[in-house]
Amino acid sequence: MAPCLLILSPAVLLAGLKRVLAKLADWLGLRRRGGVTQMPAPNPPAIEIKIPGQCILWRQPDTVGRPIREHFDLIDTYGEESHWWRCLLKCRECGQLYFFEFTEEIDREDGDDPQYSTYIPVETEDQIAQLKKASTFELLGFFPRLQKDFSKGAKTPTVRWVVR
Ligand SMILES: [Zn+2]
Repeated sequence: MAPCLLILSPAVLLAGLKRVLAKLADWLGLRRRGGVTQMPAPNPPAIEIKIPGQCILWRQPDTVGRPIREHFDLIDTYGEESHWWRCLLKCRECGQLYFFEFTEEIDREDGDDPQYSTYIPVETEDQIAQLKKASTFELLGFFPRLQKDFSKGAKTPTVRWVVR
C-alpha cells in the first residue's frame, strides 16, 4: 500500500492545486468585471435594442435637458457613487424604460467637470442584466443610445442619438 500511496499523492495534490487556481482565477475575473475602470472586453455582448419610436426622446432628444425627475420615474438604482450613477428610468409620458448612466470626470485644474449621461432604451430583464454587466466603456458599444455630453468648456450640452 505504501508505494501506491506515494505514487498517487502527487497526482492528487496537483489536481487539488489546479482546482484552487481555477477558483482564484474565477474570483479575480469576477472582481475585475465589477469595477468601473476595468479594461474593455474585445467584443461587448450583442443585444437587440429597439428604437423607441413612440418616445418624445426619440423625436425630440433635446427634451432630455429637462430636469430628470420631470421627465422620468426612478424604477431601480444599480450603483451610486459621488461621480457615477447607474439606474433604470421610466419615461413618464410613454412608459419607455431607459438604462441610465451618469459619469463625471474630475477637472482638478479648472473645476469644470465634464459630465456624460447615457440613456439606452430597454424592454426586457435580459437586456438590463447585460447592460448591468457592461463597463462604462462597453456601454458605448450599444445602439441606439442617447448621449448627453457636457464637455469641458462647453456652454450647453451636446445631445444626440448614436445609432450604429
Ligand atoms: Zn417616452
